[in-house]
Amino acid sequence: MALYTADLLILGSGPAGYTAGIYAARAGISVMIVSGNQEGGQLTMTNSIENFPGFEEISGFELMDKMKQQAIKLGVQFVTDHIVEVDFAHRPFICSSENGHSYKARAVIVATGSSAKWLNLASEKKYLGYGVSACATCDGFFYRGRTVAVIGGGNSAVAEALYLATLAEKVYLIHRRHQLRADKVLQDRVLANRKIEVLWDTVVEDILGVDEPKKVTGLKIRNVNTDACKEINAEGIFVAVGHQPNTEIFKGNLILDSKGYIVTQEKSSATGIEGVFAAGDVMDPKYKQAVISAGSGAKAAMDAVEYLDEH
Ligand code: NAP
Repeated sequence: MALYTADLLILGSGPAGYTAGIYAARAGISVMIVSGNQEGGQLTMTNSIENFPGFEEISGFELMDKMKQQAIKLGVQFVTDHIVEVDFAHRPFICSSENGHSYKARAVIVATGSSAKWLNLASEKKYLGYGVSACATCDGFFYRGRTVAVIGGGNSAVAEALYLATLAEKVYLIHRRHQLRADKVLQDRVLANRKIEVLWDTVVEDILGVDEPKKVTGLKIRNVNTDACKEINAEGIFVAVGHQPNTEIFKGNLILDSKGYIVTQEKSSATGIEGVFAAGDVMDPKYKQAVISAGSGAKAAMDAVEYLDEH
């Protein structure tokens, strides 16, 4: 059990956390980033990014690694750990980790991002890791030449379907409405892809599988207009139905909105507690783009540095 100390502690290692680290370190204060349980954040699960300025196309993993190296080069201390409890009632602030370590700082930037939502079916839990996944980049490889299904109609679902189509024989994209939410350029690619079949107005009633060996065999789906149910074969099921902010440990400490996002003051990253700032997807219910998270991290660092200068 160790006690770490820094002027500024940044929780989370997505684009918001790394960018905050880069900006704060350049301002000459001591900065420590605690990675969270997924180093690099959600972007590391994205196979191809083509809307981060300066990079025509880059994998999420590579982009996040570049940000990490840049932060470390500028003097940011990086720790692989996961904060499970925060004490923002006393100063300096103390954050405690699952490894039993304590992190003490005069200012904190919360950049803990968001996590994938699930359908909440019992069968989804049962087959998680045995055919059910929320990450095509991580698990798509296992389904080369097979049939898979992606659930959802947003950018994540469409990007996953396009990636899986490069590996699988056939991809069902199952969406509960008749219009995709994804960016037009991605919609056009999906609709033009011969390997992808969109099942419109359709929801998943159950994930089907066998126990010995444990694996997924298909889906029971229902058309929401006719209520007609049918079964389709698929060996990999990729759930991409949105995200929720990682704010569980801040309940009772910071002001959260009805969906759990951290509420910040208008035109600032300041939370309700002086010296605690928030950046990226954890406080952004709308835009959720890597470039916007990065910008938000820069703003939080500038606010935190100003706060530290004044105190
Ligand atoms: P999202 O945009 O919220 O889309 C979630 C999708 O899942 C929607 O189509 C929604 O249907 C569907 N859905 C939600 N709950 C469902 C349920 N219980 N059963 C079936 N379907 C359900 O989430 P996202 O795709 O994860 O994207 C999150 C954010 O990241 C967005 O702001 C997105 O733009 C961003 N992102 C951007 C990129 C990029 O390349 N620019 C890539 C990935 C993500 P409805 O449409 O009916 O609501």
